[in-house]
Amino acid sequence: MGKQVVKNDYPKRNWVLGLTGGIGSGKTAISNIFEELGITIVDADIIAREVVQPNSIGLNAIIAHFGNDILHPNGTLNRLKLRAKIFTNSDEKKWLNTLLHPLIREKILCDLNLATSPYVVLVAPLLFENNLDKYCNHTLLIDVPTAVQIERTVKRDNTTGEQVKSIIASQMPREDKRQKSDDILNNDQKLTQVRAELVELHKNYLQYALKNTTKL
Ligand code: ATP
Repeated sequence: MGKQVVKNDYPKRNWVLGLTGGIGSGKTAISNIFEELGITIVDADIIAREVVQPNSIGLNAIIAHFGNDILHPNGTLNRLKLRAKIFTNSDEKKWLNTLLHPLIREKILCDLNLATSPYVVLVAPLLFENNLDKYCNHTLLIDVPTAVQIERTVKRDNTTGEQVKSIIASQMPREDKRQKSDDILNNDQKLTQVRAELVELHKNYLQYALKNTTKL
């Protein structure tokens, strides 16, 4: 059988590190260190918001489907209303995912290829859940015990432990992510120590990217 051609699949030009971790694990804190090291960050959560900005194909399709009522008075998407519409209606949820997933994937692939740093980091809390790891050469899990995840998120977002626990329950279990990841960075330690370990990983990634491999 001939080689399967995947539609919309860009040739992997840049060496891509997929960075993931559960809620409050420290993805943003660690992305900031990658940025300090001169590495471009592509953030899947930011892209998911960009594809529904005013005048975007995504938002125009949502308006055509749900009506103008789905907007805030200033013309931006009312996410709470949209969430309520899809929460109890699996057909509407499927419709929305069919619209947004390709738009998000296209923008992610485009931004990954536009990066000019020695390699590029794709940050995605649901990297494995949404199969975005297939666009990555290597994966890095930011890992903390669940109790630390809860404690830090409650403090950061001024939310309740119960709410954080329900989000954790909706994400892939920690142990499964540990199994799937190529590297694991323990973020249950002082950021200065985490930074030192990250700098060592970064040295490896520079070599991998240079040789376009995942082994030295
Ligand atoms: P989310 O998935 O919710 O976006 P995240 O994985 O990006 O979360 P961060 O926002 O980076 O997580 O970190 C969660 C909180 O923990 C933040 O308040 C951050 O400042 C803090 N934090 C991150 N790493 C450490 C650390 N090593 N020591 C102490 N606090 C930390």
